[in-house]
This record gives sequence, structure tokens and C-alpha cells, in this order.
Amino acid sequence: MLDNAALATAADSAYGLTQELLSFFVNVSQTLTKNIPISIALAATFTILTWFCACNPGRAWWHKRDLVTDLCYWFFIPVITRYLRIGLLIVGAAVLFGITTADGLVAFYDNGHGPLATLSLPLQGALFLIGEDFILYWTHRYFHGARMWKYHAVHHSSEELEWISAARFHPVNLFLGSVLADVAMLLAGISPNVLVLIGPFTIAHSAFVHANLDWTLGPFKYVLAGPVFHRWHHTAPSRGGEKNFAATFPILDVLFGTFYMPAGELPDRYGIEEREFPTSFPAQLVHPFTR
Ligand SMILES: [Zn+2]
Ligand SMILES: [Zn+2]
Repeated sequence: MLDNAALATAADSAYGLTQELLSFFVNVSQTLTKNIPISIALAATFTILTWFCACNPGRAWWHKRDLVTDLCYWFFIPVITRYLRIGLLIVGAAVLFGITTADGLVAFYDNGHGPLATLSLPLQGALFLIGEDFILYWTHRYFHGARMWKYHAVHHSSEELEWISAARFHPVNLFLGSVLADVAMLLAGISPNVLVLIGPFTIAHSAFVHANLDWTLGPFKYVLAGPVFHRWHHTAPSRGGEKNFAATFPILDVLFGTFYMPAGELPDRYGIEEREFPTSFPAQLVHPFTR
């Protein structure tokens, strides 16, 4: 029979577990709620812009075939990203700096550390964008290789490319892509406040490059990734599918010989060659592991 002490310990653990679960669900719902006003603003903006400047004719984004799949990614990817990022931040600080206590972690990440954290926030922001884009350019190329393509194919599987397709990333791709790049920059010493400031820009910009818009950005096409630049990346490998890897600064593609924007032409066919690719969210999550 259990004695009183054992019962008390069991009750304590049950209480602890309930608290953990509660705070998990509070975090999830906070992340979801924060996403709703941003999503409404983006939906309104791109609906109006596409009305006047569509890159490809066709049905509106809310009629697209795998809208439910895109919505699942759109709302769950920020939650998954958050937990993957926290996990990698903890492991990174422990392995590289020997920090293992909760207080130690808070003190370490609170305002950045080392020489980078002494710079002004705008300067740190600029360094973050450049450093992150350089890492993302190469991880993106790595995901186009034979070994990792099965994960990245999820992102390229959208045939009706729209702003809402922007979050379609397999968690493995997310973890070794943007999460790894974010954590690398924070471990280098950049303040997390930079991430908070740049976060909304990143969401809006990634929706923008996937939007159905015929905007080439003219001479600025080398400065900032735009819709035509990135929509070419979603075409067949024989066209722009193995080009335009940069997330934000196309100058990286110019430097490394992968820039592709043929004059007077617009991209029009998107998707991947694999015909049997699943279209639902859960099936896409499992698919890379079944091949
Ligand atoms: Zn790609
Ligand atoms: Zn894309």
C-alpha cells in the first residue's frame, strides 16, 4: 500500500504536469491569436493587389484546391517554430557555453551577449538580416540536394502559388532552415529583441514573395526578393526551380551565379514532378519518412 509521502509526491507530480500542460495550451493559443490580425491584414492586402496586378490569371486564393492544407501550416507552423527554437536555444547554450540553469539561460539571452550586443538595435537588425540570409541561402541549396529534397518538396508542392502558401514547410526543413539560422544569430550574440522587431517583417515579406503578383520590382530586383523573383523559384528545375535561393537579398544569387529573371517573361507553372504527392497536412508531414 502507498504511504502518505508517496501519495503526496504523486499528487505533486500530477499537479506539475497539469501546470506544464496548461502553460503549453496557453502558449499555443497566444501564438494562434497573435497570428489572426496579421493574417486578416495580409489577406485583405493581397486580395486587393492581386485584383489589379495578378501574375497568373485564375481563381482567387480562397478557392485554391489545398487551402485547408495551407491554413494548417499557416496557423501551426508558428507554434512548432516557437518550440523548436526554444529547444535549440537551450541545447546551443548548454553545448557551446556550458549554461544549464534556467536563470543562466535568461541572463544569457535576455539582451544578447558579447561585442554584437553592444551595437545599436538597428545595426544589430541589419547584421541579423544579412547573416541570417547568408545561412538561409546555403541551407536552402542544401535542401535542394538529393538527400534533403523529400522534406523541401513539401514547400514546392503548391501548384496554385499564393501568399497563404508561404508557411508550407516540413518541420525538418523548418528546424534545419530558419530555426537554425535564428538560433545561430542569437548564439553569436544578437539580442532577441531584434527577432521581436523583425518578426512581423519576415512574415509579411514571405507572404509577399509568394503572392500572385506580377511585380518584378524593376531595378530593385537585386536589392529585395519580390513576387516574380520567388515565383520563378517555384517553377520546374529546367526553368527557375534550381535558381533564386535567397529569402531576402537576391544579390546572394547574383554573387553565387543562381539569379534567374528572364526579361519580358512571367513564371506560370508551379509544383513538383512527383505526381503521387499527398495534398493533406498530416499526410505531407509523414510523407518524407515513407520514401
Ligand atoms: Zn526551394
Ligand atoms: Zn517559396
